[in-house]
Order: sequence, then C-alpha cells, then structure tokens
Amino acid sequence: MLTITNPADGSLIRELPSDDAASVAARALGARAAQARWAATSLDSRLAIIRRFRAGLVDATEVLAQTLTQEVGKPIAQARNEIAGLLPRIDFFLEHAAATLVTEQVFEDGGMREAIAHEPLGVIANISAWNYPYFVGANVFVPALLAGNAVLYKPSEIATLTGLHIARLLHAAGVPEDVFVPLVGGGEVGAALLAQKLDGVFFTGSVATGMKIAAAVGPKLAKLQLELGGKDPTYVCDDADVKNAAESLADGAMYNTGQSCCSVERIYVHERVHDAFVEAFLRTVQGFRIGPPTEDATYIGAIARAPQLEVLAAQVADAIAKGATLRLGGKRIAQPGNWFEPTVFTEVDHRMELMREESFGPIIGIQKVSGDVEALALMNDTRYGLTAGVFTPDEARARAILAHVNAGSVYWNCCDRVSPRLPWSGYGDSGVGLTLSTYGIQAFTRPKAWHLRRA
Ligand code: NAD
Repeated sequence: MLTITNPADGSLIRELPSDDAASVAARALGARAAQARWAATSLDSRLAIIRRFRAGLVDATEVLAQTLTQEVGKPIAQARNEIAGLLPRIDFFLEHAAATLVTEQVFEDGGMREAIAHEPLGVIANISAWNYPYFVGANVFVPALLAGNAVLYKPSEIATLTGLHIARLLHAAGVPEDVFVPLVGGGEVGAALLAQKLDGVFFTGSVATGMKIAAAVGPKLAKLQLELGGKDPTYVCDDADVKNAAESLADGAMYNTGQSCCSVERIYVHERVHDAFVEAFLRTVQGFRIGPPTEDATYIGAIARAPQLEVLAAQVADAIAKGATLRLGGKRIAQPGNWFEPTVFTEVDHRMELMREESFGPIIGIQKVSGDVEALALMNDTRYGLTAGVFTPDEARARAILAHVNAGSVYWNCCDRVSPRLPWSGYGDSGVGLTLSTYGIQAFTRPKAWHLRRA
C-alpha cells in the first residue's frame, strides 16, 4: 500500500495499492508483447494520439494543477505554469518527429545504396523524479512513444497521482494500456522494474539512486540515461546590471521552492558589486510570499520530502560552523507539514557543504570573488555540471568564461531555463545521455545500417 500525504500540512491524501515484483513482471511481459504492434502503427497515427494527449492536458489543466499542488506542495501558480510549459515541449516533438525518424538515404553509387533507419529501442523503463513530473516524464515518454517504444513508467512515489493522471490521459488519447504502463510504488518497485528484460533505462533523480540504477543496469547491457542533480553556479561580473541580476537569480534560486535540478545553487559576485548585489538579492527574497500552496499569490511552498529538511538544516549548521554569515532565514518554519525559510548566506567558501552538495531547497550561498579567473575556477570546482551562467552586458566576456565551464547548459544573463530545442545533459555526476532537442528523439531509437546492392 502506498500512502500519499500532503507535504503542506501532513494530511493523508490517499492510500493506493502498490505494484509488487509479480505485477511488475506481468506488466513488463504485456508491454513486450504489445510493443511490436505499436511500432507497426503509422507515425501519423502516433502523432495524432500525442496531439489528443496534448488536448487532454489543456482540458484538464486545473485538475492536474490542483493534484500536483496537493501531492508535492508546489505553489498552484507554478503547477499551472508547469502544465502550460509542457505544451511547447510536446509541440516541438510533434513538429520534429517525422523528420528525425525518417530513414536517411546516405549514399548511392551504381548498384549500391546505403541508408540509416531509426528503429525503436523496444521496451524502455522511465523512472522519474517528482519535482517537475510533467517535464521530466514527458521528456522521455513523448519521444519514446512517438518513436514506437513501449514505456514502463515509474513515477516518483511522491507524484503518483500526477503519474496516474498522465497515464489516464495517454490511454484516453489512444495509447494502448499495455504500451504505456504506469507502475505504482517507491524504490522497491523501481528496483523490481530493473529486474525485467529492458531495452533502455531512462532515469531522472538523485545521484545516489542514479548510481544504484547504473549498477543494476550494467549487467543487462541495455541503453542507460541518467539525468541527475546539480550545484549550478552563476557569476555576476562587475559590469552587470546588479538589480536585474539579483532579481533573476533570486527567482532562479527559489522558484519551485528551490527544488529544481537547475536551480541556481551557488552565486559568485565580483567584489566591486558584491554588497549592492547582496542588498538587492535580500530585498527580492524578502518579497517572496510564503503561504499555502493552494493560494494564487504563494511563491514559496512546502518541501516535498520531509528528509530534505534535515539536509537543509545540516547545510545551515555546517556553514555557520565554518564562518558563513546568515543573512536571512536558516530554519524550519514551525507549522504542520514540511516548511523551510528562504535562506541566504554570505561569506561562504568551498569548505562548506552549502557550496559543494545539492541543497534542493530555498537556500543559497553568495561568495565574493576578485575577478573572472577566480570565478571560473570556483564554478568548475564541483563534481556536478548541469548548468552555469554569467551576468554581464559584455557578450565576449561571458562567452570567454562560459566556453571553459564544464556544464551541459550555459546561460548568458539568464538562469534556470530549459528549452525543448536544445539538448538537456550534464557533465560529471549530473548525468549521462540527454533528453530534448532532436537528439532527444533519436535517443529512443537504434540506428540500423542498411547496405543494399541491386542484384
Ligand atoms: P530519487 O533519486 O529519490 O528518486 C527518483 C526515482 O527513483 C523515484 O521514482 C524513486 O522511486 C526511484 N527509485 C528510488 N530507488 C530506486 C532503486 N533502487 N531502483 C530503481 N528506482 C528507484 O530522486 P527525487 O527525490 O525523486 O528527485 C530529486 C533529484 O532529481 C534531485 O537530485 C534533482 O536534481 C534530480 N533531478 C534531475 C533532473 C535533470 O534533468 N537532471 C530533473 C529533475 C530532478
């Protein structure tokens, strides 16, 4: 039985029967039997089904947003934004699937022809995080289904009701129930899924779980993608528009209550503008409304997972013990549910966990630097590498720094941004493989090389 509680007040939402090893095995066999039939349907019919799924999302937006807010504590305005933001991602896949999946004729000479066909991988596992369940789920299942795969979808136990909404909408749109298969449960159900015969494993979640998944998938020799955490830095140069940078970075650090893989997690500020930046940053964060996630004006919501409160408290204690200055917040909010104050530190350095390990909450360190060389060295002093940014009006200066930053996505005068047109990937412990862009459609295919000689 899976118990679903509301992180904003600790109340019980629902109890649901979980899958178990036997049901996972049976459903995986069902998907295996159904996949070839799905792959044999025309791409046009698969595109029409995903178009109907998109329409279903639009029609159900308010119910979907309310469910998401209830189960993960995401402020309702941000839940609506997530569903609205999913639509252009789906549109991108709808627009580019045909051209990306078409067989490429790459050579013709006399009687010899060569072509590359893009076959589906087969049956894939989609094991998903809770923090942006629509985004991280759809980055996988939309292109995977369009490419002709069957998908065994394990939403996070924390976003199970959202996962079941997604399944209902896909089935109602015409995806057969044995081609898109939701599995209910926590890590043990994920582990049972990995015991099945799979042609690909696509995971979004923490580094610790990602490593367990890599170990489980290794002997299967199946395709593996891991989209993991980050400790994403931004550098504010001495010529930056300090107010704009502070407002943008406060939002980048605190949106979704800081629970984004690409949240701004470290800020380096040139010593000439450090104090002005800190003042503008604090003013912006003090303006963020903390409140019930169900209210339209709420900006800071609940922390979805209770254990994360201890991670945040430990980072605060460690930073204070090592000499950081606490400028704002720093503790749990004493009320039912999981709440943590928006927290800002200055005088931080890289001995502190706050500057080294993913916080995944509304907490940020701001470090003073002497210039571009020191900023670049600090930005790269990490085991992660998801995103990184620079604020300056000088494009050449930003490019010179960003070209040497080890991160999958780099930002000039922006942050916490994902585009369906660009690949989403990471260096180091931020992951392996990619989603989004046309590469993120190809990721769900196996290129077959055709050598054709006329007799
Ligand atoms: P998590 O690792 O706790 O869980 C992720 C999923 O793995 C869940 O569905 C969970 O049930 C499952 N799982 C747990 N143990 C398992 C096991 N042994 N075998 C198989 N499956 C198992 O992560 P979370 O708390 O859901 O998500 C937060 C993390 O995700 C953060 O680190 C965040 O940065 C990262 N994230 C990364 C991206 C990205 O695109 N890089 C996007 C969103 C979130």
